[in-house]
Amino acid sequence: MTGTRTGRRGSTTVWADIDLHALGRNLERLRRGLPSGQAVFGVVKADAYGHGIGPVGRALQRFGIDGLVTADMGEGIALRRAGVTAPILVIDPPLPSQLRLPALHRLSATVTSVAEARALATAANRAGRTVGVHVRVDTGFGGFGAPGPGLTDVLAAVSTAPALRLEGLYTHLSGAYGPYEDGGLGELERFGETVGTARTAGLLPPLVHALSSPTLDRSALTGAARNIGCTAVRCGAALFGIRMAGGQGDAPAPFAPVMSVKARVSRVTALEPGDFADYAAASAAPRSTPVAVIPFGFSDGHHLHRLTGGVLLIRGRPAPILGRAFMSNLLADLTDIPGVQPGDEAVLIGRQGDHRITLEDVAARSGLRPSAVPLLGPRVARRYRSNTVEEDRRE
Ligand SMILES: *Cc1c(COP(=O)(O)O)cnc(C)c1O
Repeated sequence: MTGTRTGRRGSTTVWADIDLHALGRNLERLRRGLPSGQAVFGVVKADAYGHGIGPVGRALQRFGIDGLVTADMGEGIALRRAGVTAPILVIDPPLPSQLRLPALHRLSATVTSVAEARALATAANRAGRTVGVHVRVDTGFGGFGAPGPGLTDVLAAVSTAPALRLEGLYTHLSGAYGPYEDGGLGELERFGETVGTARTAGLLPPLVHALSSPTLDRSALTGAARNIGCTAVRCGAALFGIRMAGGQGDAPAPFAPVMSVKARVSRVTALEPGDFADYAAASAAPRSTPVAVIPFGFSDGHHLHRLTGGVLLIRGRPAPILGRAFMSNLLADLTDIPGVQPGDEAVLIGRQGDHRITLEDVAARSGLRPSAVPLLGPRVARRYRSNTVEEDRRE
């Protein structure tokens, strides 16, 4: 059973519930779908897709994740400060001013050129530590990796530097995110040629990785990855139960949502004819309309600012959102929901009664990528729940 602790609860008017138990189940589900022995790296860039990098990083470590991936050095350091001891791979190669950081914080660095390898080796040598390196190769995500042809030189520069340890070779498949038919298969095949060249040169590291969330249920891609000799995947969205647009069609979602977003009704009032429900005259109320003021505005999630025609849930029923959000509030139509009181819980994303609003619904209505939806503003408190504990935390 989920424990409940009230404490600071009274002062919180808008919050995100983060279900760490669902996060753990998603990791298990992800592992079950992979050939045995594949390592799973959890991608926790952008504050763990808005879910909170510290608590999510610690939870994934408890659940036995093989490593974590961040976009930049600062996020990697934040994970170390939060007590994460698991391997951490940083995607952006270190800037000249950051060359000491991988050694200082035991972060594995991405390298995409011989010059980067040499600069990192010099810094690691000075720090007296060995630094782990993954070489990133470009197979279609223009400009983010080493070009295929010079790759052997980059791998050799890393593996011959005593202060560097060649841990991985990877690419990221842009085709997996586009409307393209092959979903990145062509890129994966090019990566396969690169892996073959590295193998022949005796420079193939233990971790070879290309797949991310949208490829997991595409057997053409998972099969090709196995044939190439991939030994790991990097996943963010799937762990958070976020479905990419398109791709999976109407198949039941294999991963459970981790975040719900809730707020307490702050006022119950009425709009009279001639009143405006928003900054624009277009939504002037045609008749007297009972409304709830909800403390969630575009500073809390700018995507909802665009969510004209959306709903939220109050007393287990859908309440249409009126007009567009203000900076810290929005209005919901209570015509069909009698008896609403200030303090009642409103659900913006998640389940209430028999209804559910998914993050993907909100994304589709707002013209956003689903993974942009949980990137909420600083006022939104995060509450972490697992099977046995529930904590209020702002991190
Ligand atoms: C963001 C990112 C991922 C994770 O992508 P998901 O689709 O969220 O699984 C993996 N690899 C790289 C290089 C990334 O930038």
